[in-house]
Amino acid sequence: MTDAGLTALYARVAEYAAQRRAGDGERRHAPKASYEEQVARFALDLSREGAPAERVISELIDIAEPGLAAMTGPRFFGWVIGGSNPAGVAADWLTSAWGQNTANHFATPSASAVEAAAATALLELMDLPRDASVGFVTGATMAGFTCLAAARSDVLRRAGWDLEADGMAGSPPITVILGAEAHSTIFAGLKYLGFGERRLVKVDVDANGAMLADVAVAAISKASGPVIVIAQAGHINSGAFDPFRQVAAACAAKKAWLHIDGAFGLWAGVTETHRALVAGIELADSWSVDGHKWLQTPYDSAYAIVKHREAHLRAMQIAASYLPSAASGVRVPADYVPELSRRARGFATWAMIRLLGRRGIAEMVSRHCALARRMALILSAAGAEILNDVVLNQVAVHFGNDSETQATITKVQADGVCFVGGAHWRGRQVMRVSVTNENTTEADVDCSAAAMLAAWKAVRGAVTSAG
Ligand SMILES: *Cc1c(COP(=O)(O)O)cnc(C)c1O
Repeated sequence: MTDAGLTALYARVAEYAAQRRAGDGERRHAPKASYEEQVARFALDLSREGAPAERVISELIDIAEPGLAAMTGPRFFGWVIGGSNPAGVAADWLTSAWGQNTANHFATPSASAVEAAAATALLELMDLPRDASVGFVTGATMAGFTCLAAARSDVLRRAGWDLEADGMAGSPPITVILGAEAHSTIFAGLKYLGFGERRLVKVDVDANGAMLADVAVAAISKASGPVIVIAQAGHINSGAFDPFRQVAAACAAKKAWLHIDGAFGLWAGVTETHRALVAGIELADSWSVDGHKWLQTPYDSAYAIVKHREAHLRAMQIAASYLPSAASGVRVPADYVPELSRRARGFATWAMIRLLGRRGIAEMVSRHCALARRMALILSAAGAEILNDVVLNQVAVHFGNDSETQATITKVQADGVCFVGGAHWRGRQVMRVSVTNENTTEADVDCSAAAMLAAWKAVRGAVTSAG
């Protein structure tokens, strides 16, 4: 490619991206094209000759655009996902343009050093043990998996079993204890690690989905042999936090490993307003948290944080004769994640922390929690039932009955003013509202609440006239 061609290509992408993102606030939330239409449009004809880069990228934009959702917009409340902040996206572009293979520190000092710096900042922001090790992974699913792999290795080692040498077969059985409403990805991580769902000890939860402290403590106290306990900071429907102090004390008595899934909830610890919710998390052995939720990095960003570096390394380190080994104090990025070749994930995280600073992150998280309360107040004043205690940024709404709630969700999605998803929770259909986009304003909440109530009214009208 010529220099001029390269400039034109990247300029075209930058111009398009700027235009697209400038329209975030106004965009309808319902994609124009269906999945089936998009499959047909993306189909590749391998008998065609290759095409010039600029044309390929133009085609890609034209084909993709109708099937894109307004996920970076301020009225996307569907799941707890961030807004892919423009600065984070720019850092992510650079990450791709620089094309650093972030397996080791030796070939690319910057990619490794930026992870070291971002890791230090993350531990300070969340007030976690400063000597904990941090792996930069794809998402909280992999962060949980990575931390639990370290947990598995460590509790077996303490029971006199060398997992890395002897594997799982014949090892002392591990008791895994977690809240009955742990996130689905925790169950997935446990599955990857060889823990079957039927064997897990599920602790009953309270009305907000948090583990009942006395039940959790009793379950932990009763367990024998190696024990892993998984608590949650930020329930996916309610935002609830487990009783960390009581659980941690019971774990300490049993020498159990305590992991905390705080994909979004750990960020509460950065605030003044919601810090109390995470009291006791510092007593855990590992933590998983996302960058691409509340920190607003683009996707492919989460952190597996482990207090016991040796366990983290045993679980994840890849040894090969052609790979340089680390001098002490030097960060080898591949040592902490289940991957070798990968993108340099530290750059986007570094850029977002630099952009917002501690104060900016705290202010954003607090603001989102206030907006969630505002949403709950508006909806409940109009007769909707709020099924959760809105402790954080999540609102679980019930409109009349299950079928009205489901129909209201469908209508809100089709109307396109905002996007919400649904879930079954506590035996009922709920509409889930997650406030996590940095650009969401009170006006966005107000017009979205109005759209939800209008949809519910239309649904009830249809029911009544059908008589
Ligand atoms: C989102 C989420 C996960 C999974 O995170 P991904 O980044 O989607 O892999 C795990 N736990 C909780 C509580 C979550 O909210």
